[in-house]
Amino acid sequence: MSDFALNGRSIRLQSLRKSWGDAVALHDVSLSIPAGSFTALLGPSGCGKSTLLRLISGLETPTQGDVFVDEVAVTSDPPSARDLAMVFQSYALFPHLSVAENIIFGLRTRRTPKAERTRKLDRVAALLELSHLLGRKPSELSGGQQQRVALGRAIIAERRICLMDEPLSNLDAKLRQDMRAELRDLQQKLGFTMVYVTHDQAEAMTMADQVVLMKNGHIEQVDTPRALYARPATPFAGQFIGTPPMNLFDPNDMPDAQVFATHRARSCQLGLRPEDIYIAQDGPLNGHVEVVEFFGADVLMTCRIGTALVRVRGAGHTDFPLNSPISLGFDAENLSVFDTQSGARISNDHAQGLVLASST
Ligand code: ADP
Ligand code: MG
Repeated sequence: MSDFALNGRSIRLQSLRKSWGDAVALHDVSLSIPAGSFTALLGPSGCGKSTLLRLISGLETPTQGDVFVDEVAVTSDPPSARDLAMVFQSYALFPHLSVAENIIFGLRTRRTPKAERTRKLDRVAALLELSHLLGRKPSELSGGQQQRVALGRAIIAERRICLMDEPLSNLDAKLRQDMRAELRDLQQKLGFTMVYVTHDQAEAMTMADQVVLMKNGHIEQVDTPRALYARPATPFAGQFIGTPPMNLFDPNDMPDAQVFATHRARSCQLGLRPEDIYIAQDGPLNGHVEVVEFFGADVLMTCRIGTALVRVRGAGHTDFPLNSPISLGFDAENLSVFDTQSGARISNDHAQGLVLASST
């Protein structure tokens, strides 16, 4: 497999804008994608993920801004000049061709000699565990196998950049999970640069080195999965990442909670993840249980604290009857504080200072 090592290329996007008439798909997107990294473009439907990927691919040209590959501007180069492979949601395999013929199709059109084609096909097929299926037609394969053929077609080209647009969304949940691990493994083994579009936060969080969270045609946050989870830059980021989403509330919603006294003096929104709230004997947040959802390993309780509804994740054995009183606590370091005006995160140190100041 070592002869398959591909040194990924870096990608840099500078002030990209894409519009069609009045419709602006991307506003002013700047982004660095390190060579050999797995970068996920994540966000709700319509936020501009596919448009951004198509600008990287060269299938679209930006209205403004530039695309660099290894620091060379490729903004007006066609896709064929960019050393990349693409995999889309619809695999578009040729139904009348065998698996082998589908995989080597691109090599054939580039008139790669037969011996070389065969050698590469054998290696790719072994890598993707398709060797025993080479004679079949796509209709005789499962969804996951078809997906791997599409992948094989992309890999055999030995491009240093691979672009994927929601490639797993046609697969069932179990297969999707297996393929996540396979894709990640393959990318690490081969070393190419992966840019992967998904609207599924679990996919982005499990596979990516770097997650680019997008909203309404702009980038909301770029971070590692762990940083994105622990320190969301905005309330949107806090709610898009995590299941269930981060609780967001106004400190004025909880007039009895002394712990938020200092926060009430300024205009801010507070965020706490359900798993960062614990059941306390005499905690700072007091109210009652309104909804209990049992999931086996854990229990989600929706509690009324003041006028706010706060979801709390407890261990599976937690057993609070509906409407019973409950007291909750949290660690100050897990509290997110967002400025109401700008929506931006207030630095953790500052936020902790506020909590400490208010509890004295
Ligand atoms: P995503 O992949 O995140 O779902 P897209 O990049 O496909 O989002 O689309 C972003 C926005 O750009 C959407 O509002 C979409 O309607 C618009 N858009 C995409 N392609 C075109 C096009 N060819 N012409 C006009 N509008 C488009
Ligand atoms: Mg899309």
